[in-house]
Order: sequence, then structure tokens, then C-alpha cells
Amino acid sequence: MKQLFPITPLQEVNDSILEKAGVQMLVKRDDLIHPHVSGNKWRKLKYNLEEFEKSGKTSILSFGGAFSNHIYSLAAAGKIFGFKTIGIIRGEKTKLLNFTLSYAESQGMELHFMDRETYRMKDSSDVLQELKTQYPDAFFLPEGGSNVYALPGCAEIVGEIDLPYHYICCAMGTGATMAGISFGAPHDKKVLGFGVLKAEGYFQEQVLKFQTEAGIFKDNWQVIENYHFGGYAKINRELVSFIENFKKTSGISLDPVYTGKLFYGIYDLISKDFFKRGESIVVLHSGGLQGLEGMKPLMDRFLEKKS
Ligand SMILES: *Cc1c(COP(=O)(O)O)cnc(C)c1O
Repeated sequence: MKQLFPITPLQEVNDSILEKAGVQMLVKRDDLIHPHVSGNKWRKLKYNLEEFEKSGKTSILSFGGAFSNHIYSLAAAGKIFGFKTIGIIRGEKTKLLNFTLSYAESQGMELHFMDRETYRMKDSSDVLQELKTQYPDAFFLPEGGSNVYALPGCAEIVGEIDLPYHYICCAMGTGATMAGISFGAPHDKKVLGFGVLKAEGYFQEQVLKFQTEAGIFKDNWQVIENYHFGGYAKINRELVSFIENFKKTSGISLDPVYTGKLFYGIYDLISKDFFKRGESIVVLHSGGLQGLEGMKPLMDRFLEKKS
């Protein structure tokens, strides 16, 4: 498939912690792929768009919460490339749509709200069958855009790294991005995935599941589970101040749900001498900055409490 968006830069971060540890940090700025079709959600969508075209369907239907980066990106991509999108949104419809959903609707996405109980069963054949009857012309994409077609797009990230390195680090929600990167990464590189939710063993299982589906097995990856801050979208003051500080020293914005936890974890590992002097780590900035909008009030509250 042709290059639809520009190749994203690799930006070196310099600060006293990295200097003291003798570790080089290169940030793969996938947050700069496109202002709205963000980071890894584009990587995962890319080859799904090919499958969609082959399928002869006329719209893409997918799933997500009210703050979903995936829903936001899918809606934007639908508008740009000219296909219809349907978002199955977890929870009841609120009188006023939030930032994410009003943007999605502005891009032409049809929003279909699903109560939480049914949503939990969204991958069951009963629920899927009902949606397929209701939307017969739709190509079904799982939550987060995470399926086997998501992997080759993520693998391409690796081919764009044109400097020497030892590690590639990324955040993990479903693990599809990490599984794809592990496919793309040569055997002498180590892929570290930082889980952003609390579910022991879940990420390991997910990567194995994607590998089985793709029929490709590699063991160049490791899951790091202890930087979830209590669960998905759970944050605390320490994380929020870290994000503030990192923005000041590097100029790079992070979101508190994914990339904030990822970078926090990396700096903590550096402080524990996990990486050797002279090693170089590439960190994937997977985007998701639209999510800051929804988290801002809570983040501000943590910062106010500091003084
Ligand atoms: C969705 C998302 C992730 C998680 O990707 P998975 O493929 O589900 O592991 C990571 N970072 C950002 C910014 C995201 O929006």
C-alpha cells in the first residue's frame, strides 16, 4: 500500500537523567502522523482499509468507549478517505456529546450507543449477529482496531527507524501494536511493552493470541506490568507531575492513559539501572493526545493539590 502519510521523525530527548545513566532515548513521533488520525490507530487501520476494500462493504463499524482514540481516528479517516463509519459506543447517550464523540459525529460517524451489559458481550455471536442484521453493508473492526490485519501496519514502524538501537518500547492496551512491532523487529532487538491496565497475564495472552492468528512466533518481546497506576485511565499526582515535567524538558506532550505511563515506566527503569550504559532505546509515541481533553479536569485537580 502506498505511503499515505509522511514518515514520522525520530527525536532524541536530552536531559540530565538520561545523560547520567548514559542511555540514549529516541522518540518515534507517531503522534505527528496526522492531526486527527492518530499514531498507532492509523498503523492498525492501514491494512484493515485494504481488507475493507476487498470486502466490497460500504462502511466500517467499530467499537469503543466515549473517550476512545480509536473511534476518534476512525471517524477522521472515514472523512478523509470517503467511507462511512459507524461507532458502537459503550454506555448510554448523554445529552451533550463529549469532545471525542462530538468530533466523531462532525466527521460523519453514525453513533450507536450500547448499554454496558450488552457491550461487555460485544464479541459474542448473538450481539454480532444482531449488529450484522442491522448494518449488513458494514466491515466489522474490533475495539481498538486490534485484529490480525492491524499487525503489518505496526510492523512497519520498525523499518522506519534509521539509527542504531537496542530496545523498542511501546504502551499496551490490547497488545496488537506490540505484537506488530515484535513481528517487524529483528531478533537482536528487544521489544518492551508497558501494560496500561491492571490484568495479570492478560498482555502475555494477547500477544500469543495475535501471534497464533498470524502464524508468526517470535520471542523478542517482554511485557512490563507494574506501571498501570491501578488500572485503565487511573492516574495520580505523581504521573501528572511527570507528564508536566517531561513536557517542560523535552517539549513533547504525553497523555495520561497510554504514553504518560509508558514514559514514566521507562524513566523508572532507568533509575533502577535496567538499561546498560551506552544502550539506546526507541520509544513509540503512539499519539492519543485527543484523550487529554477528557482527562484535563482531573489532571488539573492533581496539579492544584500540589501547592
Ligand atoms: C490505543 C492506544 C494504545 C494501545 O494500543 P494496543 O494496540 O491496543 O495495545 C497505545 N497508545 C495510544 C496512544 C493508544 O491510543
